Amino acid sequence: MSTLENRQFKLIARPKGMVQRGDFEFVTAPAAEPGPGEALVRVLYLSLDPAMRGWMNAGKSYIAPVGIGDVMRAGGVGRVVASQDPSLAPGDIVVGMTGVQDYAVVRAREMVKADPRLAPLPRFLGALGMPGLTAYFGLLDIGQPKAGETVVVSAAAGAVGAVTGQIARIKGCRVVGIAGGPEKCRYVADDLGFDAAIDYKSEDVRAALARHCPRGIDIYFDNVGGEILDIAMSLLTRHARVIVCGAISQYNHPEAIQGPRNYLSLLVNHARMEGFVVFDYAARYPEGMQALAGWAATGKLQAREDVVDGLETFPETLQKLFRGENFGKLVIRVAGE
Ligand code: NAP
Repeated sequence: MSTLENRQFKLIARPKGMVQRGDFEFVTAPAAEPGPGEALVRVLYLSLDPAMRGWMNAGKSYIAPVGIGDVMRAGGVGRVVASQDPSLAPGDIVVGMTGVQDYAVVRAREMVKADPRLAPLPRFLGALGMPGLTAYFGLLDIGQPKAGETVVVSAAAGAVGAVTGQIARIKGCRVVGIAGGPEKCRYVADDLGFDAAIDYKSEDVRAALARHCPRGIDIYFDNVGGEILDIAMSLLTRHARVIVCGAISQYNHPEAIQGPRNYLSLLVNHARMEGFVVFDYAARYPEGMQALAGWAATGKLQAREDVVDGLETFPETLQKLFRGENFGKLVIRVAGE
């Protein structure tokens, strides 16, 4: 086992602004051996998530920061190579936190088995994984959508946004997506079945939202923060819900981030704004997974992945998220299946 070479990205500096290759050290070390209750996993695909940028910052968050010198934290899907736990056997496909590396020693009870016959493996990092669950619990639990309501979703062509809008449609809502560029907007409206899509890069978002949401916004599922959040909040209905899922437009701000300027809209509309972290729902993941897999099997939930080859591309591939260069769930293919 110790002859397996393990390439790893270790965090060596806290980024200022956009993440850079120089924030990491790319090293090779022998793969470690699993101890009792552990397994050695060959990482096949890595999940690239906007949250990774936050994990690199020092300071309090919903999860401890990645330590300087530590392997960069990442979700992944991989194949068990060796196991010291009865729940996992060599050959099993598992999903969980693997880190940005070729081989991960993982605690067996922290991994979830995936059935590769159900979907392509990258989908277990997207619509059938953490982003899908984020959409499911964020929209349904925090948003409490009712048929006929108007739901607006930002970063609508992305991993979380695409699933959110489709679930809102399944629940009988009118759904308006906001995305960057004509190709993503066509995808959102034509392929995913949103009622309308707004290209925030070329359209007047305020005018377009007012046009597509004539009765106002009952639920705004926010993935981006900043200016778009401000605009959406100016169109809330009475008892509207603003779901704070993320604020990607703010993650690389070196200084204080921009908060909502018009929060009194919550007061005058008796509205609610609530943040959440998907990990809060870990005990209910099986419920979410079952629902997502069911919709996918019946064709009600479409998904798309953006697969980039090579572990060595990690820093530049991560940057794509913050430039809107990913189209669908962004993953790195680390090794052939
Ligand atoms: P994603 O949407 O697949 O990719 C990120 C997208 O954000 C980009 O493709 C880009 O799309 C958009 N974007 C980037 N910079 C932007 C900017 N300055 N203004 C507006 N849009 C911008 O990523 P994801 O994994 O699904 O994550 C979406 C959001 O959900 C993030 O905020 C993330 O932090 C959050 N999230 C939260 C939780 C939770 O538990 N609360 C869990 C997972 C994810 P365009 O080309 O359309 O601009």
